Amino acid sequence: MAVTFPENQRASARAAFGLFNPEQGRRIFSRAHGSGHEPIVLEATPRTWYIQPGMVNVALFETDEGLLLVDAGCAGDGPALLQAVRSVSDKPLHTVVYTHGHSDHAFGLWAFLEAGETPRVVAHENVVAHFERYIKTAGLNARINGQLPGPDGKRWASEREDFVWPTEVFSDTLELTLGGERFVLRHGKGETDDATWLWAPERGVLAAGDLVTGYLPNAGNPKKVQRYAEEWADAAEEMAALRPEVIIPGHGELVTGADAIVDELQAMARYLRHIVDHALRGMNAGLLADEIVETLTIPEELAAHPRLPAVYDQPEFICRNVIRRYAGWWDGYPSSLLPAPRPQQAQEIAHLAGGVGALVDRAWSLADEDLRLACHVAEWAFLADRDDPRAQDCYEQILERRAALETGLMAQVNLRVSRYWVEAARSAGAAAATSGAR
Ligand SMILES: [Zn+2]
Repeated sequence: MAVTFPENQRASARAAFGLFNPEQGRRIFSRAHGSGHEPIVLEATPRTWYIQPGMVNVALFETDEGLLLVDAGCAGDGPALLQAVRSVSDKPLHTVVYTHGHSDHAFGLWAFLEAGETPRVVAHENVVAHFERYIKTAGLNARINGQLPGPDGKRWASEREDFVWPTEVFSDTLELTLGGERFVLRHGKGETDDATWLWAPERGVLAAGDLVTGYLPNAGNPKKVQRYAEEWADAAEEMAALRPEVIIPGHGELVTGADAIVDELQAMARYLRHIVDHALRGMNAGLLADEIVETLTIPEELAAHPRLPAVYDQPEFICRNVIRRYAGWWDGYPSSLLPAPRPQQAQEIAHLAGGVGALVDRAWSLADEDLRLACHVAEWAFLADRDDPRAQDCYEQILERRAALETGLMAQVNLRVSRYWVEAARSAGAAAATSGAR
């Protein structure tokens, strides 16, 4: 891959996906597919552990009354997580807190229940709605997350028994006392609307879930439900005000040192607010979404911050997410209000250009000078005639070249969707040829 990050961001970019195993990533709800790695277990402060069983992190607090576990990892991480917990403490599992309802954080608890543990499960009230949304959109989620069937044949959690549901929910703040020690749960919004972060004041430890990950906040994912950049900034500032000594983040490495933590959280808030302000200013001035995104620039001190590399999401996507939050779906161009089908538009462009071949030639000649523009021309060629092998190759290769240059995973993954379209067109062509020969 051609992707490089500035020197000061490389460590965080490398750590971003932890012990990610693509086999597990494609069967995220399979209890039979773990990360295949020995979990990383670090004692962050006395009786407090950072555990990384796979792509995600878990926080463990030991108290005299029992264990407090923050998050439970992916379904397949459950057994390894249980072992990791038992390698440091034999106290009973008293309480589990879900930082949010995502597939990689709230699904490993089954292994503890099967081992006879009977914890209460505490979460923000919107986690219940999040799980219900998973059931409602199982097909959509399986597809956009590239999921394959697990041993039970399911590609996504789709029935009530696929979840370990919260037994106790809260809406804004909840204080727990375990073994005489205070733990404060605070609701925030960020990547999701159901987020909780946990503050252990006597230990100076904050378990942040995905509100802290060591990379640019995932606040703009192009295919997912609404994200909350403004509230994310609020939460970052609120966390910074506590001056934690340690943050156990939802992904990436353990973060230590109050000064570095405050610097990171404040930079994160400034970064998000910068994008939100730009989007709102543009919308209020009557600019179209494309114009707002096109004119977005990020100050160097934020773009180069060591803990905020755009390794997953990127500023343009966050900006569009803010626009979506406050405006409708229309891009503002009259022709796209009630548009002609894209293939028909592409055929008209091909006709004007003198054929699909002319579009393919033009796409290739643009590829070295303006790859972004070349993508459009290659797409017109492919949509004008999906059966044309030159258009297929051009579309596939130019989009792949673009994907390889992008730093963010979301951009790479979604540009590579072109591959599946081309593969589908090729196999449809092959099937038609076979049936024609009969
Ligand atoms: Zn996550």
